[in-house]
Amino acid sequence: MNDALNITNLTAGYLGRPVIFDLCFTVPQGVICGVIGPNGSGKSTLLKSIMGLIHPMQGTIQVLGHSIDQVRSKIAYVPQRESVDWNFPVSVYDVALMGRYAPDNIFKRLKNSDKEATLKALEKVHLLEYKDKPIGQLSGGQQQRVFIARALAREAELYIMDEPFAGVDSVTESAILKLLKEMKQEKKTVVIVHHDLQTAFDYFDYFVMINRKLIFSGQKKEALQPQYLFETYGGGLPALDRIRTAGNAREEIAKS
Ligand code: ADP
Repeated sequence: MNDALNITNLTAGYLGRPVIFDLCFTVPQGVICGVIGPNGSGKSTLLKSIMGLIHPMQGTIQVLGHSIDQVRSKIAYVPQRESVDWNFPVSVYDVALMGRYAPDNIFKRLKNSDKEATLKALEKVHLLEYKDKPIGQLSGGQQQRVFIARALAREAELYIMDEPFAGVDSVTESAILKLLKEMKQEKKTVVIVHHDLQTAFDYFDYFVMINRKLIFSGQKKEALQPQYLFETYGGGLPALDRIRTAGNAREEIAKS
């Protein structure tokens, strides 16, 4: 089986200036992979590269054994939550339906299967009854669930999520955690940027740690070594949290 992601010597950035350097790692299929690192360490830049939104300055990215262009329809994206003015009349259903369009085919004729996948996705995030509401009338957490539904409607193999828990209510947080569990059972791969190490070590099973360069990639058990966390985050106050987190997560592993 091909890896979900195979990244070789990836250097990428903006306007000719590299932000991430010479990253080499693989992510196997069927894992929930946390991308962690401090602010400004290049996590979003890495995700944008995987999505093909920015082109590598050097190196290659393979998704499911293919170049990104060959498998765009198998990649779904949940962007970082932004405050958008949703005053224009677009319904929850319309936004979720966008997941069914490939970026290179936005005028495709809709089929019944598109409608079904969209409704199923809205059901999964508990928003079916809101489907005809303008998205602007929903709370922030509900809007985030609509964006997750848009990704689910795509019925992709690889899901890229940028801080999906940021600023969401507890209902949405549990809904997302439950979905991650289901996605893992369905052997989907999720690559997820998340800043809270506690949740990350509790719920994710594979890790890519970066700070402009790759510090570590691999299974949770090895990721918990304090040396990697120190190298990723550097010294300073957060170190206390990190060690506590590593300790708690170890206990969790021991219990499971
Ligand atoms: P993270 O997601 O880990 O916080 P980012 O990938 O967003 O890190 O940012 C890494 C660096 O890239 C930062 O120094 C940031 O200023 C820079 N950067 C991010 N986006 C852009 C952009 N569109 N143009 C220029 N520089 C950018």
